[in-house]
Amino acid sequence: MSGKLIDGRKVAELLRAEVREDVEAWVAAGNRPPFLQVVQVGADPGSTTYIGAKTRACRDVGIDSATERLPDTISARELRNAVLRHNENDQVDGILVQLPLPGHLSSHAVIESIDYRKDVDGFHPMNVGRLSLDQPTFRSCTPAGIFELFKHYSIPVKSRHAVVVGASNIVGSPMATMLSRENTSGKATTTICHKFTKDLTQHTISADILVVAAGQPNLIRGEMVKEGVVVIDVGINRIADDTEDRGYRLVGDCHFESVREKASWITPVPGGVGPMTVAMLMKNTLLAAKGSIYPKPE
Ligand code: NDP
Repeated sequence: MSGKLIDGRKVAELLRAEVREDVEAWVAAGNRPPFLQVVQVGADPGSTTYIGAKTRACRDVGIDSATERLPDTISARELRNAVLRHNENDQVDGILVQLPLPGHLSSHAVIESIDYRKDVDGFHPMNVGRLSLDQPTFRSCTPAGIFELFKHYSIPVKSRHAVVVGASNIVGSPMATMLSRENTSGKATTTICHKFTKDLTQHTISADILVVAAGQPNLIRGEMVKEGVVVIDVGINRIADDTEDRGYRLVGDCHFESVREKASWITPVPGGVGPMTVAMLMKNTLLAAKGSIYPKPE
């Protein structure tokens, strides 16, 4: 078997077209366009690239955005004050503090300082808690994007065995929560693996759906999965490559060729999960503007 490719670029474009239409209708009804406030601390080139992609996506769908750039020497208190200012500004619908932060700053503290009603990344404890209670919430963008892929390709989730490799707050944990808890789109029997998991293959080999978000190239190889598995490769790793102008290429966490041989469906890297993450951020920002999760005061 050679797995069919899940085309994240295509599905993300469809999703963005939907958001664009909804934004147009929202503005045509007399509302101002949704507004996303991005906060960048320092000038990490990776973060700058991600922010560029997010603000371009905003423009593309009619969402206004601004990026506040703060020095990497900023104190925790100054950063908190910057976030609080955006919380209080009722022209701001969504706030995103680009991670990772410089080492002296706690991402937990910064995330908690964001008004949960503007937490379009879905990282605030309020939204994480509501996710685990299967209550309406800002769903973390990467896992939410993966569920859009399942929907688009009619990949069933309910009652299947899902294995998530990686347990971060941003990807692995919310993915496992959604797979196991969500009544409408989840209800898979779910296993979550991390660095301390003994014998990873014992788990991955029994997966009907395998989501890999470990940040380790070639962690999953063909012999570790069963025939017909659906593979979602979230990893984005830079591998040195002199044949590329930029000197590197991007690979996921799976050894693509051998895993594809066994899979029924597989996401490529790049062009799989990545574009979905940005599209879901657009959707969450629109939901925030409309007060769809947390109604706005009259
Ligand atoms: P983190 O480094 O925060 O988390 C990695 C997780 O993987 C941890 O839970 C870690 O375990 C686990 N892990 C690491 N090595 C192994 C191993 N050998 N066996 C089993 N588990 C392991 O990364 P993120 O979750 O933020 O990101 C993961 C990957 O996804 C990265 O490559 C990142 O670039 C990519 N990414 C892609 C996105 C997209 O849109 N496509 C969005 C976000 C991330 P432990 O908890 O024990 O440390």
